[in-house]
Amino acid sequence: MTTPWGLPDFDEHEDVHFITNDECGLRAVIAVHSTHLGPAAGGCRFWHYAEDEEALVDALRLSRGMSYKNAMAGLPLGGGKSVIVANEERAKTPDMLHAFGKAVDHLGGRYVTAEDVGMTVADMIEISRSTKFVAGLPNSGSDVGGDPGPHTALGIFLGIKAAVKRALGKDKLDGLHIALQGAGSVATGVALHASAEGARLSIADIDQAKAKKLATATAGTLVSADEILSLDADVVSPCALGAILNETSIAQLNAPIVAGAANNQLATEEDGERLHKRGILYAPDYVINAGGIINVCTEYLADGDASLVRKRIEGIPVRLEEIWVESEQTGRNPAAVADAMAQRLIGRA
Ligand code: NAD
Repeated sequence: MTTPWGLPDFDEHEDVHFITNDECGLRAVIAVHSTHLGPAAGGCRFWHYAEDEEALVDALRLSRGMSYKNAMAGLPLGGGKSVIVANEERAKTPDMLHAFGKAVDHLGGRYVTAEDVGMTVADMIEISRSTKFVAGLPNSGSDVGGDPGPHTALGIFLGIKAAVKRALGKDKLDGLHIALQGAGSVATGVALHASAEGARLSIADIDQAKAKKLATATAGTLVSADEILSLDADVVSPCALGAILNETSIAQLNAPIVAGAANNQLATEEDGERLHKRGILYAPDYVINAGGIINVCTEYLADGDASLVRKRIEGIPVRLEEIWVESEQTGRNPAAVADAMAQRLIGRA
């Protein structure tokens, strides 16, 4: 089957913007997947890509994920995403961030940016000098907003608990073994919540120092990045990068639950079915990891306070349970059930 523009990940995206600015070295892609429910909202990723085409594929996949995520989180927002291509010769400078902010501004609010991997609150402040279409800024007179990581972590923690309840019949994580892939912002929050409830943690990060720090803080065990997914754990929680669940890694999983923060965890659609056939309960990534965008969007939309953020995040395990119930009733895998629900919500059923 031929795909539009020869890109398998192109999914009727409303528009895709390529930005280059030789003066400051900016090279970026902004992908607007859908504005059906509202402005296309989604973070900006700053990352090294071996090929520019990989950055485009990431933007296409991640922006569709944002449409689905925002819809499933019940937010009045569409889905978009941007990536800035990092490179040894092109450091992240204020000029580059301003140029990126201008590109966002040029879209007149069709796209609202925020933090993602490789970007910080300080970067959002720089970007906000060039555009008002940015969220994830420090709290200013409001108790919502700021770093989305802790809110994403809360949603992951509540989602893990819901999965544990469904798959293992337990109300608490006490005594359970959680394998965490990644020791960054979200993984740190998940680890702190889970260890406070008595879970035993195994932690791996390609950055050994980060993994060691988190393992020390939570009395966890340091594990190599190669073995974390195949540990004999109760829960595997992917909190690093995407596309880590594929034919090979799924065959090696030994945990009954996969529930983590990374976007686009499934390398292909078939991998949702592979997990299902193996009897592994999967928490669709864009449903369980919506806590950050819920917080950021509540700030951006200015429609509520911290208690509304908490209430919206507490909706995550409820939505997951709806997905798992429909999966049980129809025999379809949870990833496919979630996609169909999201497509209905964004008018593409
Ligand atoms: P982060 O950059 O703080 O942490 C990611 C960590 O993963 C880093 O420490 C990195 O060294 C590590 N890593 C990369 N490749 C790895 C590998 N192969 N094995 C082990 N570790 C590896 O990012 P974060 O904000 O914690 O986000 C983690 C994931 O969750 C990302 O996929 C992100 O897109 C997703 N996510 C984050 C948020 C948020 O609010 N920050 C929201 C939704 C989804």
